[in-house]
Amino acid sequence: MEAMDLLLRDVTVVDPGPDRTAIRSGCDIAIRGPAIVAVEPTGQLDPAAARQIIEGTGMVAMPGLINLHAHAAMVLFRGAAEDVPLEEWFNDYIWAMEANLTPEDIYWGALLAAVEMIEGGITTVADHYFEMDQVAQAFAEAGLRAHLAWTMFGQQPAEELERAAGFAARWHGAAEGRIRVWLGPHAPYTCSLDFLEAVAREARRLGLGCHIHAAETAEQVTASLQRNGLTPIQVLERVGLMAQPLLCAHAAHVAPQDIALMAAHRVGVAHCPKTFLKLAAGIAPVVAMREAGIPVGLGTDGAASNNTLDLWEQMRLAALLQKHERQDARALPLQEALWMATGEGARALGEEGRLGRLQPGYLADLILVRVDGVHVQPLHRLEAALVYAVRASDVDTVIVNGRVVMAHRQLLTADKAEILRQAQERAARLAQRAGGRRVQTYSL
Ligand SMILES: [Zn+2]
Repeated sequence: MEAMDLLLRDVTVVDPGPDRTAIRSGCDIAIRGPAIVAVEPTGQLDPAAARQIIEGTGMVAMPGLINLHAHAAMVLFRGAAEDVPLEEWFNDYIWAMEANLTPEDIYWGALLAAVEMIEGGITTVADHYFEMDQVAQAFAEAGLRAHLAWTMFGQQPAEELERAAGFAARWHGAAEGRIRVWLGPHAPYTCSLDFLEAVAREARRLGLGCHIHAAETAEQVTASLQRNGLTPIQVLERVGLMAQPLLCAHAAHVAPQDIALMAAHRVGVAHCPKTFLKLAAGIAPVVAMREAGIPVGLGTDGAASNNTLDLWEQMRLAALLQKHERQDARALPLQEALWMATGEGARALGEEGRLGRLQPGYLADLILVRVDGVHVQPLHRLEAALVYAVRASDVDTVIVNGRVVMAHRQLLTADKAEILRQAQERAARLAQRAGGRRVQTYSL
């Protein structure tokens, strides 16, 4: 065996797949450069050939979690807009507070979010926000893998498209390949059809995918039908956005013809259950979408609507909600919940075959999770522990692209105390809503 950069010793490998979750105890995992090169029974790989060894006895090793939809820097607005309906949430709080943001705020917000995500076992995030050079810089430093989209409303179409293209030129493939750039039109309810068509043309020209919000509420669907004679999902197809890889956040209110359209064009869906519960916006038909073959992964959305960036919680809520909605305890079983949080998220990003599995040849994005807590023991079924009992704080070690970014709860890539200080210092100024300024107005 050639030299290994990292050897994880004596772990229980949990590798969720589309049909079953493979579980093997007593394994060693060899990593060279950014990739997993071997998974073998403990004792078969020579520890002397490893530059670094992490002892994992008693821990689960699994693929890092994929957060398919986030607005990382919104951690700065955590808890600042509560118990209000969507229109008020946008107009009176979020879009008013976002008018206060400076590029530097966004950098520190993104770092705070990166730390929270790493500590909770997220290794890849698809983020949609403003001043994305700051977010890219923060994630590159923190060691995350990210798909980044600069939010565009189409208020100044030419400038916004040029800015997005410039961001892609600077960051697509950067940070050892950890950063990828997509285009980020905000939503069919905020962007004009002409602008969405222009975005689709630009995405084709640049060979990039798009990340957009759509079909969040029943009212948005009604308004779209009245205005365009099309559902929001049909709008995405009509303007040409489905000709490129497309990731659609939410898709909570989709009709059977929308589901067929998304399946035919292999549109990925980011399901963010906690936001939808908090905003009372309805729950996506996840089971029906997945049965149609649509890759549905899980997202935290921003912390202004979720409060935390905890993908374990999203996994749990996603499974519970489908059981509740369908009045069927068999709906969205353990195996499917684990797959949605890992490999199916990778599929939704067009990264299958490369990301989301714990197998030789895949990128070494993986986590070690403790399962010895009193809230987990005794352990009858490991998958049940991971979906329903494990907490984000049970994540012990995080590896992204072959690099250890957290070892035994010790963050190795960022100065947590300084990040917390910066976020706290900025919080009061950012929460001001005087002056009537807004980055956008929500109206249907
Ligand atoms: Zn969002």
